[in-house]
Amino acid sequence: GGNGVGERSTPSPAIRRAAVIGSGVMGAGIAAQLANAGIRVLLLDVPPASLTEQEARSGATLQDRAVRNRLAAASLAKLAKQEPPALYEASFIHRIAAGNLEDDLGRLGEAEWIVEAVVERLDVKRSVFARVESVLRPGTLVSSNTSGLSVAAMTEGRGEAFRKQFAVTHFFNPPRHMKLVELVPGPDTAAGTLSRLAAICEQQLGKGVVLAKDTPNFIANRIGTYGMLTTIEAMRAFGLGVDEVDALTGPAMGRPKTATFRMLDLVGLDTLLHVLDNVRERSEDPSERDAFARPPVLEALVANGWIGEKAGSGFYRKI
Ligand code: NAD
Repeated sequence: GGNGVGERSTPSPAIRRAAVIGSGVMGAGIAAQLANAGIRVLLLDVPPASLTEQEARSGATLQDRAVRNRLAAASLAKLAKQEPPALYEASFIHRIAAGNLEDDLGRLGEAEWIVEAVVERLDVKRSVFARVESVLRPGTLVSSNTSGLSVAAMTEGRGEAFRKQFAVTHFFNPPRHMKLVELVPGPDTAAGTLSRLAAICEQQLGKGVVLAKDTPNFIANRIGTYGMLTTIEAMRAFGLGVDEVDALTGPAMGRPKTATFRMLDLVGLDTLLHVLDNVRERSEDPSERDAFARPPVLEALVANGWIGEKAGSGFYRKI
């Protein structure tokens, strides 16, 4: 049975080196998964545009390597501090090196698989892929962790070699607990690229892989995001509190504590707004565009900087 590519993935040589671009919620989690599977990982983010107060006080400059690697290094430090149930092997962290996309661009040539997990914006992803293409070697796999942008749009302007070596590998949050990976080919993705990505995800990372079409939000997120939106609307319509909804939709229904609003805080409310905007932009169905409108409560939280766990506050305040 099953319609996953799983049953078709044939054993293929394990990869030993990868790079992850974007060290946020998902990039850091994916890097940890890869490292935990024995793969060496280069974790890259952007060099910061300004110094922190502390950096300025200590006389650091924007040219310092430590400053330029600050974002990825901070994600690594956070990962290293995670307690069980992180389920990571104790030594995994030593397989990850933090860097930045400007100074370490050339090092992407060492990777057998480059995973992009930067902010969910088409313009940013396109510019990242243009840079990746400039150092891409034949045979290197490239994939995006986008929640639902189209492969065709992300690879527009890239050459044929890049487009053949590229697909979406959509991991779910948190990557250490969620078994599913959606594999989404674009119009030019080579069959060998797909089968190698499926083999890595299944055989090296222990994921279950499903093949999805290049439709807005693919499969799981199309349903999941819509479910989240209807829950937000139900909360408003019935005057329920955030914790009441979580209690009702969580353990009481046999689901985890992170069923609804705690989950949105983990996802990142800014990311959710990008996802909604992208679905509306891609959809040709007016009722779908209405359904994926931005809920005012989300806009208000994001306008205040309460974008979820990663900022300390979202629907819940961290204490
Ligand atoms: P995030 O906001 O936590 O992290 C994004 C990271 O990208 C930040 O560290 C930022 O500094 C970095 N970045 C921005 N521009 C960059 C550039 N030009 N080069 C390198 N790094 C850059 O976001 P996230 O939640 O980790 O999402 C990353 C991707 O994963 C998005 O495409 C998102 O849709 C997707 N995704 C997110 C979730 C989730 O639950 N949050 C789940 C599945 C997929």
